[in-house]
Order: sequence, then C-alpha cells, then structure tokens
Amino acid sequence: MTGAGDPKLHCSFCRRSSAVVEKLLGGPGVQICDHCVGLCQKVLNDEPIPSFPGWAKLTDAQLLATLAPAERAVEDVRTVLQAHVDELRARGVSWAKIADALGVSKQAAWERFG
Ligand SMILES: [Zn+2]
Repeated sequence: MTGAGDPKLHCSFCRRSSAVVEKLLGGPGVQICDHCVGLCQKVLNDEPIPSFPGWAKLTDAQLLATLAPAERAVEDVRTVLQAHVDELRARGVSWAKIADALGVSKQAAWERFG
C-alpha cells in the first residue's frame, strides 16, 4: 500500500496522481486509488455508478495531463508480464507452452519476451 504524496505514482484506472488521492493501493505493476475502490464497492453492491464520459468530452489539458501516467502504466504492466514469463522460463516451461498460453506463435513469444 502506498500513501498519498509521490506525484510519480498514479491510479492505473483513473490516472489520478497519488498527490491528489487519499490512498493509493499498489499491486504488481498497477495501483488503484481510494476513489476507484469506492466505485468498485458500488459495483459489487449493485449500486449505480457514473459512466465514463468518453475521450471526446475531456479537454486537451486533461488528456495531456494523463498521457505520461498512461504510458507509465503500460510500461509497468509490461515489466510485470516480462517477470511472469521469466519465472516460467526459470521453471523450465517451454516457449511453445508460453506461446500457446498467450495465443501467439512460439516465434512471436520468443521475440517479445526472450
Ligand atoms: Zn483511481
């Protein structure tokens, strides 16, 4: 779990900075803020939640402000995915099995993660 304050950390779902949320919970390569956890709780309780207004409704400034955090989130997930594949390879799992699990060719899996 991460406390608020490090502006480099962002919620992986809404892109809010940890500097503007109460709590930011960290998982492997992702974070979720207290606001998004609250939305999740509403979903679990079958309560109505506001829908995403769509990219077209956001201002240029809003889109630009979340661009770098979005890219970091993608890179974080790539890092976790690479570690996942590295663990499988360390266990001796073949590229063929990894490729099959990913639904890609053995060559594509090796080029991406080898
Ligand atoms: Zn959030």
